Amino acid sequence: MNSTPVSSSDYPASSSFESLPLPPALLTNLDQLGYRQMTSIQAQSLPLILERRDLIAQAKTGSGKTAAFGIGMLARLNPNWFAIQGLVLCPTRELADQVANELRRLARFADNIKVLTLCGGAPMRPQIASLEHGAHIVVGTPGRIRDHISRQTIDLSTVQMLVLDEADRMTDMGFYEEISGIASACPTRRQTLLFSATYPDDIRRASAEFLQQPAEVKVEAQH
Ligand code: ADP
Ligand code: MG
Repeated sequence: MNSTPVSSSDYPASSSFESLPLPPALLTNLDQLGYRQMTSIQAQSLPLILERRDLIAQAKTGSGKTAAFGIGMLARLNPNWFAIQGLVLCPTRELADQVANELRRLARFADNIKVLTLCGGAPMRPQIASLEHGAHIVVGTPGRIRDHISRQTIDLSTVQMLVLDEADRMTDMGFYEEISGIASACPTRRQTLLFSATYPDDIRRASAEFLQQPAEVKVEAQH
């Protein structure tokens, strides 16, 4: 369980979610979830994400990165278009489940947004059945998503936003080629967000290959 609480030092002075151009129902839901102030990484990244910029964001664990991309993704999602509009890649099944649960909480303002997880280690057949039913957002691990692409059981041609979460861990685990294949299956005209705790050479290479003129934000670790 990743429930590291956000510490007070993670909040910049006065940055309410209300200052962002977000749908009112989403703002109400954030308030109900107890999200009143943006964390530093949210305050730095959300205005850029909402402008549809590609982005590299570097911040430590527990700084609220999921809601940063989650709110950005939900703000541009069309619930009436039942197609995969958002794709989030995570290094492990556990992290994918956490991200999917957070997205479902954030998506409560609309009653029909479907978030599907697709991870390795789970049987293929129910995943294929779920894909046939459709989803607005898919969260998964690179190997399994790549597998669905090879079997032609997933259509990523409608993806508007691709998120590489914990990108440094994914490249450490050897997922670079899978990520590359997945990015190629998404439209070239899409928004791509890369979240990472560190910025090694693999991430530099990934950003050059998968992102277009990305903005960069970084929140230094507090001591
Ligand atoms: P990270 O991905 O940076 O490690 P998470 O996205 O998992 O961090 O967030 C850590 C915790 O902080 C989660 O429990 C999340 O619900 C909570 N959280 C995120 N943003 C806010 C906020 N603006 N206000 C209050 N809690 C928040
Ligand atoms: Mg995270």
